Amino acid sequence: MTLVDVITHFDTDERCRELLVRLRWPNGVECPRCNMAAVELATEKQLFYCKGCDYQFSVTTGTVFNDTHVPLQKWFMATLLLCEAKKGMSALQLKRTIWGKNKGSYKTAWYLCHRIRFAMTEVHKMLDGTIEIDETYIGGKNWHKGIAAGRENKSVVIGIIKRGGELKFVHVKEATSAAIREVMTEHVSEDVDMIVTDESVLYPRGLPKSQVSKRKTVNHSADEYVRYEDGFCVTTNTVESAFSLFKRGIVGSWHRVSPKHLAAYLNEMTFRFNRRKSHTLFLDTLRHMVTAPVLTFEQLTA
Ligand SMILES: [Zn+2]
Repeated sequence: MTLVDVITHFDTDERCRELLVRLRWPNGVECPRCNMAAVELATEKQLFYCKGCDYQFSVTTGTVFNDTHVPLQKWFMATLLLCEAKKGMSALQLKRTIWGKNKGSYKTAWYLCHRIRFAMTEVHKMLDGTIEIDETYIGGKNWHKGIAAGRENKSVVIGIIKRGGELKFVHVKEATSAAIREVMTEHVSEDVDMIVTDESVLYPRGLPKSQVSKRKTVNHSADEYVRYEDGFCVTTNTVESAFSLFKRGIVGSWHRVSPKHLAAYLNEMTFRFNRRKSHTLFLDTLRHMVTAPVLTFEQLTA
């Protein structure tokens, strides 16, 4: 799907709604309140009506599109732009691309981006196979100059990736063994084949008991980044390149990510990363948007 495709195929509100209906209710329109089958009303507004609970709704009711004043075609364009921007796109850039330099409001674009991002959330799944895990520091003063610049006021992100599979980023309060153990227990299966870490002291203590014997390390302080052992490639390069992609997003696109919204940006990045080879990223994102709950401006800025 390209921007030209979006502009050509989804040129009216009606066409956008038709697609959203198919994505939200692949087995026929259902009432969001009581799940009964609903009928379309004979109006131009594409409203549905549920006889069971006397509820009238549209395809965007109760989703991230809820109460939007932005035409759906612009929503579709914004979604495509965010899907295609490997390193993310700032709300300001998006506003200029869709509305123009002196039109549209930054606040509208910012809220729009956050609602798309909010929908870009993975279904929870335990990782198995060969796992790489590492931690990194985001934000704070001079963070881009590296860890040597100090870790104060920085946010800690734990990255876990299954080789040939999914990536997860988790924002934690502190880089401690306890935090790592919590993340590993929640996201990594007991049946994991191998866990590769660096020699940080966090890991021997941070791994749950069932995972300790699966650990292999690379010795970064001895300039070792890749090692082969019994046919296994022992390296944390995959998760480290995912971190650097995220950091390039901050430097090049978002400029600054507050700790409050960090998890949302991490979600966006991993959602896109995990579908980088997929041909249905755009449709997949729209499907998430039309099935994710409402995100109000008040919730976002609370
Ligand atoms: Zn109903």
